Amino acid sequence: MATRTSIVSDLAPTQELKLRLLAEGMSVTARAAKRLDDAVRELGWSAADYASTSGLILRLEDDVWVNAPVRRNNPNFVRSDAVIKLDADSGGFVVDAGGSGSRAAYCPQAAYHGGAGGHGPLNNFVFTHADRVRLSPLRSCAMVCEFCNIPYDDPIGTYALKPIEGCLEALDIALADQAQPARHVLISGGTPKPKDVGFHRELFRRVLAHLPGVDVDIMMVPLRGVFDLGELEAGGVHELSINLEVYSRERAKQVARHKFNQGLGLYLGFIDRAVARLGPGRVRSMLMVGLEPVEDTLAGVEELARRGATPVLSPFRPDPATPLRDVPPPTFAELAEVYSRAMEIARRHGVSLGPACPPCTHNTLSFAQDSAGAVRYLYPGPVLVR
Ligand code: SF4
Repeated sequence: MATRTSIVSDLAPTQELKLRLLAEGMSVTARAAKRLDDAVRELGWSAADYASTSGLILRLEDDVWVNAPVRRNNPNFVRSDAVIKLDADSGGFVVDAGGSGSRAAYCPQAAYHGGAGGHGPLNNFVFTHADRVRLSPLRSCAMVCEFCNIPYDDPIGTYALKPIEGCLEALDIALADQAQPARHVLISGGTPKPKDVGFHRELFRRVLAHLPGVDVDIMMVPLRGVFDLGELEAGGVHELSINLEVYSRERAKQVARHKFNQGLGLYLGFIDRAVARLGPGRVRSMLMVGLEPVEDTLAGVEELARRGATPVLSPFRPDPATPLRDVPPPTFAELAEVYSRAMEIARRHGVSLGPACPPCTHNTLSFAQDSAGAVRYLYPGPVLVR
C-alpha cells in the first residue's frame, strides 16, 4: 500500500512513514477507535508509562515498528486534525498519510497490566512494551533529567527500593502473560543513591540467576560500584545500555545536570571497559534526537561507534509532566537527516544502530535490519491485532 517514493534515499516509504509518525503523531478515526477499544477491553490503548512509550505500538508493512503518538496521551504536540490517520477497514488497521500509507497491526498491552500480585500492583514493578518487559526496581530517581517523567511523576521524596521478591514475581507473571508474553527483559528506571548500589548488584545477580535462558539487559548510569562486569558476564547478562542522552556539554548542563556533573568521561570510560569485557554488540548507549543540534548528536554517534558501542537514537518526545512539555519533538527532516548520517557513521565503524530486536525499535530511529537489509526477529513476535 505504501506508494510514494521516499524523499530520503536511505528510507523505504514505510520507514519514512515511521519518521513522520514520530514527528507528528496521528489522529484515530471512529472506526479505528472502536476496533482498538474492542481489542483492549478495560485496558488503555497504550501503557503510556514513560515519555517515549506514550503512543500506540504498531507494526507497519515491511516489518517497520513504530510507537505512534496520539492526542489522548500527548495533547502537547499531537494536533486534533493530525494529517496522518489510523483508520480501519474490513482488512484491519490502516495508517493513511494522504496519498501514501501502510496496513498496520496493533500490539495490545499485556493482560497483567493493572493487576496485582503478592507485593501489590504489578505495574509498580513492571511494564511490557511489545515483546520486552521493563523492570523498575526503584521508585523515583536520585537524578533529575528534564526530559524524563520519572523524577516529576515520583519526586525524590518518594524514593524507595522495591522488594527483590516482588521484582522476581512480577517478571515471572510478565513472562507467562496469556495475552502478551514478554520474551526478554530490561532492568531500567531510576538511578540509585550511592548508598544503594549494593542493592542493585544483588538485584542483578538474583534476576540473572532466576531467569536462565531469558535475555536480560541492564540500562543504568555507571555509578561507582553498581556494576561488576566480571560478575555480570559470568551471570549471563545479555546487553548493557549506558545512556549518554545528550552529547553537547552545554545542553547536558541545561537538561541533565546530574549527568553533566558526573562528566562524559565516566560514561565513555565505562563503555570502553564494558566493550572490552563483553565484546562488540553487547554495549549500547542512547542519544536523544531533537534536544541538541544535529551535529552534536552525530558527534555522539561517532564517539560511541568508534568505541565499538551500539548507538541507539531515541527521538525526543515531550512528556506533559516535565518542564520540556512545550518543546516540540524533532521534525521529520531532522529525524531523516540524523538517521541517514548516523547510518553512514555506523557503517564506517562496522557497528549497527540499535536495538537489534525489531519490536523494540518502536520508539527508536532504527529498523533492526542486517547488512543485507533483512529484518530478523530474535524472539517470537508479539501478539498483534489486525
Ligand atoms: S537518570 Fe534516567 S531515570 Fe533518572 S531522571 Fe535521568 S533519564 Fe530519568
